Amino acid sequence: HAFTGDLPTESRVGELVAEAHRRYTGLHDGQVADYIPILAEADPNWFGLTLAGVDGSTHAAGDTDIAFSIQSISKAFVFALVCERYGHQAVHERVGVNNTGLPFNSVMAVELNAGSPMNPMVNAGAIATTGLMPGATPAEQWENIRTGISRFAGRYLELDGVVYHSEMLTNQRNKAIARLLERYGRLDTDPLETVDIYTRQCALAVTSADLAVMGATLAGGGVNPVTRERVISSEVCRDTLAVLASCGLYERSGEWLFEIGLPAKSGVAGGIVAISPGKGALGTFSPRLDPAGNSVRGQRACAYLSRALGLNLFASS
Ligand code: GLN
Repeated sequence: HAFTGDLPTESRVGELVAEAHRRYTGLHDGQVADYIPILAEADPNWFGLTLAGVDGSTHAAGDTDIAFSIQSISKAFVFALVCERYGHQAVHERVGVNNTGLPFNSVMAVELNAGSPMNPMVNAGAIATTGLMPGATPAEQWENIRTGISRFAGRYLELDGVVYHSEMLTNQRNKAIARLLERYGRLDTDPLETVDIYTRQCALAVTSADLAVMGATLAGGGVNPVTRERVISSEVCRDTLAVLASCGLYERSGEWLFEIGLPAKSGVAGGIVAISPGKGALGTFSPRLDPAGNSVRGQRACAYLSRALGLNLFASS
């Protein structure tokens, strides 16, 4: 098995996933997000872990069938779809690839950088990226995003309408960011339409198992390990993983890389996907977040498994 590599046995990997779940079940640090009102209703005890290999093998523990909104994790996959269409250079120039050092919803990050959205993993860059999605109308752009993200998951993902409507009532800041980008010439589409699509992409419902398969598609050079469909090119996987390494956990990306050593993306509903290039990916779900908006138990479980499975990209032994 490609994923297990030089690890002793498949069953040992399964034991380690179960152990990661057992270790952090009792950890209750962090707060459930409430700036999107419906997210506050999540059960803080939910905790699911799934590991998917590029060979299609999976190991799971805990609440792996609870659906939650993908939120910012969608940014990684929409970025990949847009890169596939426009290429490395155009996306670099238009959106940028440097960390802001500021929270994901920062308006100041745009202002301090002469209108640049800086990177596709903060809201400004993600809204700019969504605006680049192919499609003659907003409805077509949304459909292309939905079917595109679904190909990474290997199943058609449903929109959680309750989450979408809840966020639409409280997303004034994202609308302001989109207007600012329009003024700086970084958005060619209608700003409010693009925020609407962005809010929908964030409200797609996934499980930790979906996140693991989506991540394993990036780990496997763009081929979905379950459907065997090629979703994107290996060059786009490489570029996406580079951006995730520097920006995937917002202003905490440096600490994450220092502790865990893998490209990853978090979302405020409590999901994290962490990718081990050539091997597979971890999908984690636990709603309590650190102050930057990253799942606390998800980070700890990824740190444990990265160490136990020898996944840290910077380790030479
Ligand atoms: N939809 C959320 C927002 O725009 C996504 C943020 C996140 O997951 N960090 O605020």
